[in-house]
Order: sequence, then C-alpha cells, then structure tokens
Amino acid sequence: MRNHNLRVYNTLSRTKEAFAPLDPPYVGMYVCGPTVYSNVHLGNVRTFLTFDVLYRYLRYLGYKVRYVRNITDVGHLESDADEGEDKIAKKARLERLEPMEIVQQYTNDFHEVLRRFNFLPPSVEPSATGHIVEQIETVKTLIENGFAYESGGSVYFDVLKYNQSHAYGKLSGRVVADLLSETRDLDGQAEKRNPLDFALWKKAAPEHIMRWPSPWGAGFPGWHIECTCMSTKYLGKHFDIHGGGMDLKFPHHECEIAQAVGAHGEDPVTYWMHTNMLTVNGEKMSKSKGNSFLPAQLFAGDHPLLLQAYSPMTVRFFMLQAHYRSTLDFSNDALIAARKGYKRLMNGLVIARKMQYAPSDAAPDAKAQEEVKKLVEAVHAALDDDLNTAMAFAHLFSLLKLVNKLHTGSLAPAALGEETFNQLVGTFVGITGDVLGLVEEKTEDVDHLVEALLDLYREAKLNKAYDKIDQIRARLKAVGISVKDMKTGIEWAYEE
Ligand code: AMP
Ligand code: ZN
Repeated sequence: MRNHNLRVYNTLSRTKEAFAPLDPPYVGMYVCGPTVYSNVHLGNVRTFLTFDVLYRYLRYLGYKVRYVRNITDVGHLESDADEGEDKIAKKARLERLEPMEIVQQYTNDFHEVLRRFNFLPPSVEPSATGHIVEQIETVKTLIENGFAYESGGSVYFDVLKYNQSHAYGKLSGRVVADLLSETRDLDGQAEKRNPLDFALWKKAAPEHIMRWPSPWGAGFPGWHIECTCMSTKYLGKHFDIHGGGMDLKFPHHECEIAQAVGAHGEDPVTYWMHTNMLTVNGEKMSKSKGNSFLPAQLFAGDHPLLLQAYSPMTVRFFMLQAHYRSTLDFSNDALIAARKGYKRLMNGLVIARKMQYAPSDAAPDAKAQEEVKKLVEAVHAALDDDLNTAMAFAHLFSLLKLVNKLHTGSLAPAALGEETFNQLVGTFVGITGDVLGLVEEKTEDVDHLVEALLDLYREAKLNKAYDKIDQIRARLKAVGISVKDMKTGIEWAYEE
C-alpha cells in the first residue's frame, strides 16, 4: 500500500472526509449503471469516467477494490411518479423487438463506448432482471418490518412511517414537509397512502411485457430496489463507496438509503459520491432536452454542435481537466486545446516508458532533485484531495518538462540519482497511464503508412538503390507485409 492521505467529499456529511475503508485493504464500491433503452450520451460518460479514475486511483494506492456497476434493464418507468410505460418495453414495442434484444443492443453499445474511452471493466456487472428473486425477498422483508404495504397488486414504501424513526431526505437535504407540499396535488396516486411513497413492486398491466410472478401477483420491481439488492448481494449490508451522477441523489439514492435501513436496520454506505453534470450552453446534457450527443457522433464529428471530430482520449483529457464536482460545459475550443495537451502528454509517455537509468559522472543537481520530490508529492496530493484531476494535470505538465529535459540530454539521469530518476519516471507514467487512463491512440490508417513506404520503394527502384530496396522490403516483411513488383506497378499484400 502506498502512503497517502486520500480525502473524499461525502454528500451525506457535506464535508471532505479521510478515506478509511471498513476492512482495508478491501474496498467495496457501487456505481449506478445505465438504463439500457438508449445509447449512452457524453454526459453519462463523464460520470462513469469519474468512477473509472477513482477505481484506478484506489488500485494504484494498493487497495483491492470490488467495483460493482449495474445494468438497469427493467422497470424504469417514464415518470418519477411511477406512472407511464416501461421505457425498455416501449422501445421494444416500437421497434418490434423482444425487450431483451433492446437490452442486449444497448448493453453492447455501452460496452463499446467504455472500451473506446479505455474504462476498466467493473468486477461485477449485475443486471436487474438477473436479481428478481433478491428484490422480491427484500420487498417481503420491508413489508414484514412495517416499512412497506401492498396496494392493488403493487407494493409501496411507506415514507411517512419511515420518517417517524429515520430522516428521509438526509442525503439530498430534502425535508419531508416541503416535499409533501410540492406533491400534494398530483393525480393518479390513489393506491398510495401518501404521494411521497415510492413503488417497490408494480403490478403489471395486461399489456406489460416485462413481468414476473410474485406474492402480490404478476409485476415488476421498482427502479430503486434493484440497486439496494445488488449492492447488498455483492458488497454486503454496509460498504464503502456509492457513486452516481448528482441527478441520482434524489429520489434514487435517497430511496436506496431508506430501503436498506428499512430492510437491514443500518445505513448502507460510508461515502456517497456524486459527480456534477456535463452541460451544453449551461444546460445539463440530457436526452430529453435534445442537447445530447453520442460518443459515436463525437468521434465522427457528426453533430451540429461539433466543429470537427474528436478522439476518445481527447475527450478523456478534456473531461479530467475539470474537477468532478464542478460542472463542465461542452466547448469546441476546450476540446481543441485538450487535443494539444493530450498529445504533449502522450509524447512524454512514449519517451518516459523507454527511459532507463544510466549512471554517469554528471554531478548531482540538488535543485532538480528537490523539484522532482516536490512535484511527485504535489501530484499525489492533488489526487488525494478528493480526486482533483485538474490540479494533477498542472503538476503532470511540470513533470513532463523534466522528462523532456532528460530526453534531450539537458538533464542527466545521474544528476537526479537513481531513486529520484525512478520516482520521476514512475510517477509520470503511473499517473498519466494507470490512474488517468490516457493511452496512445495509434493511427489506424495502415494503408496510408504502407503507401508512404512504397513511394520511397519506387524512388529507390528508379535510383537503383538496391540496399534501400532490400531494407524497405525487410522492414515491411517484419510487420507481415510483402512488396510485389508487378508488371503493372508496385503493390503490397499480406505476407502468406
Ligand atoms: P441514466 O442512464 O440516465 O440513469 O444515467 C447514467 C448515469 O449518467 C447516472 O449516474 C447519471 O447521473 C449520469 N448522467 C446523466 N446525465 C449526465 C450529465 N449530463 N452529466 C454527467 N452525468 C450524467
Ligand atoms: Zn442505482
């Protein structure tokens, strides 16, 4: 385990707290995953990116993290008031597909997006439909404990009853009396004792496709209960970190706390962490607002808001330049600047990875040694400070200057000494690659590269430069490409 002073901002206490897992070095972390009825947009990517970097940093520090991120593939109704159609079933109906085909299609898309952005896969990726039994069991327990009631084939959580002995609203800072006055006039809630009550289990209307048998008749689980059940199943009744976007604080996470406390009698999570939103012209990027775009559109530059295409790593860099608790506004200018910054860092990474310590008679440079020490500390301190990736970048660029000095020879490795040299190179490579997850984007345009070499080959042939010809042939052969001298000209083929 590395020495560290990691502090994280806990939404529950509204303060930064020293990170102390329940059972070190093990860390349990749960992040609400996507609802798979549509493609993930760039806003969703920002939230998953934050937790990817947190996961990476915890591992870098030496923790053994069990990272659970669910797939919501059932029971997410169109309105928060538990009304309307199941979004997945609706899409299936419109596209004349099985609901599970919709689920698979968008789960595949989600995984592809994560792969392009170089996200580490979670340790467990459970789905709501795979945990219906657990959800029914928890609903039964909530009824037994007096926190839920059956009504018309559905089961609701009794918010007022819970609030008599616990503080409903403590995570999001809501007050039940205020919530009540906001919601009193809603229609269509006759089944509920109180408009604040939320569904744990919904009776399926005859046309509802996604349905399961239960003690209360055929139906489907509410959205909040799946996260309570899957987090408990894989991480226990109490675990370290629960994350998601800020918009999930209420009602989703508030309801998760109430369900877990109601079922198991204890607060489920030590650190609640929430990311701020990606905005477009100051407004939250969201599918319903029509201001969202998809990663695929971004990579192709195919959207009216995009001046050009941007690569996944440029976007990764762009997003991490902001602290996760600040809003981040989409901007072409910022992305163009991010691409430059990303490429500078990558050039440094390529150089640094190849660097070896070489002793020489260069005199020790105390000032440079001191600088390395300070920067190495500073970059870790930035990440320790609630994952301040924005600050970490500033220090990484200072480290990069030293890496470049070593590369050009204006600073000799021996002037740093072996230990300081290794600290410099190790920190630069570890933070850039392992923690921030930035990787080289190699050109995929192989045809273009081979053609460029064949131009040199043609020129060499014209000049009868046989050494050059042999050299080019051999280099291409080494990567599986053979040069063909045809009557019609020079071509290439894969080496058979
Ligand atoms: P959803 O599939 O809508 O439940 O969203 C998946 C995750 O993305 C949730 O954690 C949301 O809070 C998060 N999210 C949605 N919109 C944005 C946004 N504009 N910026 C950042 N995160 C978002
Ligand atoms: Zn959730």
